[in-house]
Amino acid sequence: MESSFFNRTVDETLSALGGTKAGLTSKEAAERLQKHGKNALAEGKKKSGLQVFLDQFKDLLVVILIIAALISMVSDNVESTVVIFAVLILNAVLGTVQHFKAEKSLESLKAMSSPSAKVLRDGVRSVVPSAQVVPGDIVELEAGDMVVADGRILENFSLKVNESSLTGESEGVEKTSDVIAAEKVALGDQKNMVFSGSLVTYGRATVVVTGTGMDTELGKVAALMNRTQQRKTPLQESLDDFSKKLATAILGICVVVFALSLFHHMALLDSLMFAVALAVAAIPEALSSIITIVQAMGTQKMARQNAIIKDLKAVETLGSVSVICSDKTGTLTQNRMTPQKIYADGSLLEGDDLDLVNDVQRLLLKAALLASDATTNVEDGTSIGDPTEVALVMLGDRIGVDEELYRRHHPRLGELAFDSDRKLMSTLHEIEGVPTLYTKGAIDVLLDRSRYVLTREGQVPMTPEWRERISRINMELSMEGLRVLAFSYRELPEVRALTLEDERDFTFIGLISMIDPPRPEAVQAVADAKRGGIRTIMITGDHKVTATAIARQIGIFREGDEAVSGVELSDMSDHDLDERLERISVYARVSPEHKIRIVEAWQRKGKIVSMTGDGVNDAPALKAANIGVAMGITGTEVSKDAASMILADDNFATIVKAVVNGRGVYTNIKNAINFLLSGNMAGILSVLFTSILGLSMPFAPVHLLFINLLTDSLPAIAIGVEPARKGLLDQPPRDPNEPILTRGLMLKILAYGALIACATMGAYFIGLNADNGGAGLAMTLAFSTLTLARLFHGFNCRGIESIFRLGLTTNRASLGAFAAGVVLLLAVLFLPGLNALFQVSPFTMAQFGWVILLAFLPTVAIQIYKVIHDAVRRKNR
Ligand code: ATP
Repeated sequence: MESSFFNRTVDETLSALGGTKAGLTSKEAAERLQKHGKNALAEGKKKSGLQVFLDQFKDLLVVILIIAALISMVSDNVESTVVIFAVLILNAVLGTVQHFKAEKSLESLKAMSSPSAKVLRDGVRSVVPSAQVVPGDIVELEAGDMVVADGRILENFSLKVNESSLTGESEGVEKTSDVIAAEKVALGDQKNMVFSGSLVTYGRATVVVTGTGMDTELGKVAALMNRTQQRKTPLQESLDDFSKKLATAILGICVVVFALSLFHHMALLDSLMFAVALAVAAIPEALSSIITIVQAMGTQKMARQNAIIKDLKAVETLGSVSVICSDKTGTLTQNRMTPQKIYADGSLLEGDDLDLVNDVQRLLLKAALLASDATTNVEDGTSIGDPTEVALVMLGDRIGVDEELYRRHHPRLGELAFDSDRKLMSTLHEIEGVPTLYTKGAIDVLLDRSRYVLTREGQVPMTPEWRERISRINMELSMEGLRVLAFSYRELPEVRALTLEDERDFTFIGLISMIDPPRPEAVQAVADAKRGGIRTIMITGDHKVTATAIARQIGIFREGDEAVSGVELSDMSDHDLDERLERISVYARVSPEHKIRIVEAWQRKGKIVSMTGDGVNDAPALKAANIGVAMGITGTEVSKDAASMILADDNFATIVKAVVNGRGVYTNIKNAINFLLSGNMAGILSVLFTSILGLSMPFAPVHLLFINLLTDSLPAIAIGVEPARKGLLDQPPRDPNEPILTRGLMLKILAYGALIACATMGAYFIGLNADNGGAGLAMTLAFSTLTLARLFHGFNCRGIESIFRLGLTTNRASLGAFAAGVVLLLAVLFLPGLNALFQVSPFTMAQFGWVILLAFLPTVAIQIYKVIHDAVRRKNR
């Protein structure tokens, strides 16, 4: 950025950039977009296609395959050599395509969650994706926004920004539009500039964009760093670890098999080929790409269901979530506030009965309309603004008072914006020549600051009796689940800049209550979560009694539970909190800092916590949680940036859906691994068995590669897309420390593998002992049986239940995968040319019948076991 931007006057800056205070025209913006390119930081150095392709050969398992190909070459086994090399290249091509596909899908998810900016174009305010912001654009900033480009401040309303992404300094920096104050040039002292990547923590400002994309301070930093930040998920890491161990085990077993073959006086090269067959049988060549495919499909499905995953890791973590902490307003409730009863001048009445003849009631309405920003469109009856304030203008509309009329008569001369820490908002107006501050906000905060009460007879002191009376009314309304807003005023000696110190010594005017009904789907979602062993906790800025009433309606607060306010929480030691934690289901009047304490307390108990948030100050809690959840509609850019999941519909039920999907994806991956490894186990056991007995090889490497890469991949992917079942919520959350290959799973892999190996060996012996038989036929029948048995086995691995409970047609992909696998097998067995490549010996139809029968038997055995298992499980439930 050129230094000239901050020591020029505003007009000079604008003219240097070729713009005006009314912003660019859309045409100019489009031209500049062409000229300057998209406003995006160049990604860390991306790998070229060739580099990614070569990377695919770095795997130890692939190296074993290369050795296998070399041995085949030396043993003059042309078919095997050609096929293994072809497979290696195909595998690398597939891996490369996968890499770029995954990158693209992550990019599209990133685009869905990328920030937007409010720009002034053609003189009107519009919201555009940050990538389309160009130099010269006038951008409006307010608390919660992310600054998406560097810019010079034109107008400043107490702007404070966090520039930690640039300076590492987490303290907020105050900004100014003043040139003099901005003379120092070191970054952070450029007080009249804002920088891309910083976050607005307070106030408002209008800025003119001076630099975008790589042409920003952040761009310079990014260019300095080589940001290759593709981190592996825990699942990928544990699988990497597994494949390393597997490779070592394979090498060990190969040595044993090789020694055994020599012991049986086989020729050296034949012995080596045995070892090669074993290595090929054992390596799950397609496993890692299948897992990537399943994870990517899972995130796409979640995005369609309104849960945008920003971090692949989150898919796995979601499956282990055991506590969901959720905001109330807008997430558990509809955020559609409608005015209900009001209280003024000592009486409680329906909002519709508000009487403008009564001075106090009239003033209550006036304060409500002046100290809010919502507006209604008279023509179509729609309202724009914060729902709490919309309820206030609705109240005016109901009795025929136009808020615009009031606001025109008494223009706003100053303002202290609402923030959820203070829970107040104030505006300054001149009323009959007297500067008057109207303040609205949380009753507990406002009542403490009120010294008088307004009555028909005028101001009276706020006695303990009045306080008690107002608190009782508030309690009555809150117990019905209503949000109660208090109103007050204070006369000031003159019109002057407001400070937070001015919000005191009020005269209390009255209360307006409003209803915000729970989302109907929230009740079911809370019940579903409970069934799945997940605790839902409400965390809200609202009053304790209101919050408890709503929590009761939704099913979060049950008999024996506790509700705690922010003040009570602050008084609790960590020890006290730990002791009471499990009983507390509602935290009310909390500020964002409390959220971190709640997250950490649950984490101390070993729980995996999801926390929602929408405000700027929620970001640290979202980061601290295992799954930070931001609101797509009402959330600030800062919170979206800190979250690992964004709810496109702000709906609590979407979190529960995402958890179910997270569990589903994990279960499916586990089932796919079970399928692939048990099939491999069958291959290993068969090779081991024949080598121990000193028999001929049951398969050639080509056969095993054909199965591992082709006929097995299809059912594995089909298992990966198995639809999430209701039963997923019948179990407690998964222990995040549990490895994917549990003892139980390994035993299953061994048992299923042994069954399929028995069938394969059955076919092998039929071939070996047949009149037309010998080593060649034995191999053909063993290979056909192993392929077909593994295709049938795909149905066994769709879930723990039997196929009768799962339903054969509920996963059509699995039927398609089976059919495609059978067609491939038939092609290899019967197509001239292909059958030569696969060393197929001629066989009779009766022998083929045996193959089908033997291949089907393991599945029959497994399904019988599952039917019994289902019955026992149901009986025990
Ligand atoms: P959540 O449940 O998502 O935390 P909330 O709406 O209950 O949200 P806040 O928005 O922080 O929490 O509001 C806290 C309190 O501040 C409310 O209970 C209300 O008393 C007061 N309040 C809310 N909106 C306004 C506003 N626009 N002006 C003044 N006071 C407000």
